[in-house]
Amino acid sequence: MLRSSPASRAAFGIRRLSTKAPNKLDVGALAKKVPLKGQTVLVRADLNLPLSKGDGPPTITDATRLIEALPTLKLLLAEGAKVVCCSHLGRPKGAVNEKMRLAPVAERMAAELGAEVATAPDCVGAEVAAAAAALPEGKVLLLENTRFHKEEEKNVAAFAEQMVNDTGATVFVNDAFGAAHRAHASTAGVVPYVKHAVAGLLLKKELDYLYGAVAAAPTLGPFAAVVGGAKVSSKIAVLESLIEKCDKIVVGGGMAFTFLKARGLEVGDSLVEDDQLELAAKTEALAKAKGVQMILPTDVVIADKFAADAASKVVAAEAIPAGWLGVDNGPKATAEIQAALADCKTVVWNGPMGVFEMEPFAKGTFAIADTLADLTDKGAVSIIGGGDSVAAVNKAGLAPRMSHISTGGGASLELLEGKVLPGVDCLDDA
Ligand code: AMP
Repeated sequence: MLRSSPASRAAFGIRRLSTKAPNKLDVGALAKKVPLKGQTVLVRADLNLPLSKGDGPPTITDATRLIEALPTLKLLLAEGAKVVCCSHLGRPKGAVNEKMRLAPVAERMAAELGAEVATAPDCVGAEVAAAAAALPEGKVLLLENTRFHKEEEKNVAAFAEQMVNDTGATVFVNDAFGAAHRAHASTAGVVPYVKHAVAGLLLKKELDYLYGAVAAAPTLGPFAAVVGGAKVSSKIAVLESLIEKCDKIVVGGGMAFTFLKARGLEVGDSLVEDDQLELAAKTEALAKAKGVQMILPTDVVIADKFAADAASKVVAAEAIPAGWLGVDNGPKATAEIQAALADCKTVVWNGPMGVFEMEPFAKGTFAIADTLADLTDKGAVSIIGGGDSVAAVNKAGLAPRMSHISTGGGASLELLEGKVLPGVDCLDDA
């Protein structure tokens, strides 16, 4: 992993995109070296499952992350470990929130494992200590939402130490790829207090796949990134990194309007981050200087309000009237993107092309999903990251046709950016 500053990287001409997976010990390798039978293993999983909203008790609407966490849990159970599993769920902001309890996750986990899952009402404290002490070998205890404590996100050492002491864990397994870009108590803080800290099978799979695909991309053929969504500020750094590696970059969704405005176009009431205009212009200039094709929408669907029942029409990107806002790619833009992607052998996609949650503005996003599924059928590598792109792919029923669906949107972007993921960096080397 690169640890140098951007300035020193630039000075030495170092490419920003790291392509070498960090060589971390994983739980499978640990199990071969150290007997885990009878050991208490603290597993940080990403069980941040989407739950139904509304008045009734919350139910799980998509169990993908839980399903992906099962191989590590099953391996540890088969080894006879006492598995204490923890996770955050939602954003309770350091306080107990009844809607964000892990009870529905525990129930589903038990069903998936075909085994009883014990629960505790907290992730630290006397009741956790009692439940962990009573846990038989080869059984799971699921702790309560780690983010019910403000110390979790602040990565308070005493809290992390208490989590290890109360559970009696001697081994820590981080399997939460979706949270690996955060240095929180349960993703990194606990490491100094255990004997072994290793990568879970999902974390390893994600790292191997993402680093592997980026490393292999130049040998396969044209490499494209499709980046959309709302926030330019959170994604502009990854664009800069991708320019170093990609042949083509498609910018869509709300992000595109900051780039269009930076080109001097009027964008009406479209989403724009004015403080990012200069950087957007610089990024486009950098792409040009490096010979990277940057594709912005040439036509857009515009709406007279931000609502599914808004009046809408298709206009050229340079003809957005005042009072209207861009909400999706137009048909010409979609066709141009499809043509640009046609010869690509690796495509990374993060972020929708429009306000796809509103059915009338979802066409551009679903067109990307279709295109990537077709390209993958023809042998290209497709990598989908980011909750919304993954949701769109799932909604279209296209997930099985993609090469890799990442469980971590933010983490996969930071990895592509060449950043060190703190939840990985802290683990034992292989
Ligand atoms: P992000 O979290 O940055 O990936 O952004 C995802 C969100 O971007 C989704 O909820 C989309 O509805 C939203 N989005 C996509 N295109 C637009 C647009 N043109 N205007 C406003 N929001 C958008």
